[in-house]
Amino acid sequence: RAKLKGRGQVIYFDQRLHDELLHQHRLSDRLERALENGELMLHYQPQVSAVSGRVENLEALLRWFPAEGAPVSPAEFIPLAERSGLIHRIGDWVMEEACRQRAAWREAGLALERIDINFSGSQMNGADLFARLDDCLSRFGLGPRHIGLELTENVLIEADAHVLEGLERLHHRGFRIAIDDFGTGYSSLSYLKHFPVTALKIDRTFVRDAPERPEDRAIMEATVFIGHRLGLEVVAEGVENAEQLTLIREMRCDLVQGYYFYAPMAATEIERLLAGPAAPPPSLSS
Ligand code: C2E
Ligand code: MG
Ligand code: MG
Ligand code: MG
Repeated sequence: RAKLKGRGQVIYFDQRLHDELLHQHRLSDRLERALENGELMLHYQPQVSAVSGRVENLEALLRWFPAEGAPVSPAEFIPLAERSGLIHRIGDWVMEEACRQRAAWREAGLALERIDINFSGSQMNGADLFARLDDCLSRFGLGPRHIGLELTENVLIEADAHVLEGLERLHHRGFRIAIDDFGTGYSSLSYLKHFPVTALKIDRTFVRDAPERPEDRAIMEATVFIGHRLGLEVVAEGVENAEQLTLIREMRCDLVQGYYFYAPMAATEIERLLAGPAAPPPSLSS
């Protein structure tokens, strides 16, 4: 019996693996067509001042709304695109769209600093991303104030000399470069003195657990301390409630981002938000 059961399990897992691979393959095909058919779009999530609640910047987050079927999360399709190589075309589309939107909002006179875009590792190596970024910026007449970059620690650590050089140049020209999901990668703090960064984004898992766990609070405090001592801006991501916000403000984080203030939203909603009277965000108004 045990043997039979054991065999059954082997078959079961084989089937699961097979199904999973098939699923990924199909999704990959669909994603390529989605890119061609204009099913991708950018949503924007405000980053607000921890002190005033004023919207300072936006983070561009990729969304896929298939013509048929449910939306697919970037947490699912970005890793897939990285494996298939489609990430280069997707990344170019994101760059183009963020630049176009930033330029359009400048024309419209919207009160807004930057749009930050996420870059993944496989996207940076190989073909010359920096030249294409420059090309995109100059076509829309944009400069270092208008577009920023978010990279994870692992991207920085795995970056080759060419990529680091490209980042150095951007940094030197005044571009903002944030380390995303800070505290979750295989980092040693010493890289902070070498890498061309301007901001740390404390990963949302620390923020999530901070009210209950002193360890998470300690790590956040240490991050704010070291960030500020190094002249970096510190952002807390994934802020969902008042308790977390209180802690974050006590710690003197500079910016906050999370559902407690605003979820990622479509460009038209951003326009409504920023064009309206300078009202405090819902969570600070009471
Ligand atoms: P990320 O850059 O760390 O983005 C933050 C994620 O947290 C986003 O998920 C955002 O919607 C979500 N989030 C924001 N506020 C809250 C909150 O209060 N609570 C919780 N639980 N979550 C919150 P999303 O949009 O699903 O994106 C997931 C990841 O996909 C991003 O993580 C980023 O690594 C990647 N990604 C998204 N857009 C792009 C893109 O254009 N290019 C690349 N290369 N990666 C992207
Ligand atoms: Mg990000
Ligand atoms: Mg993040
Ligand atoms: Mg993340």
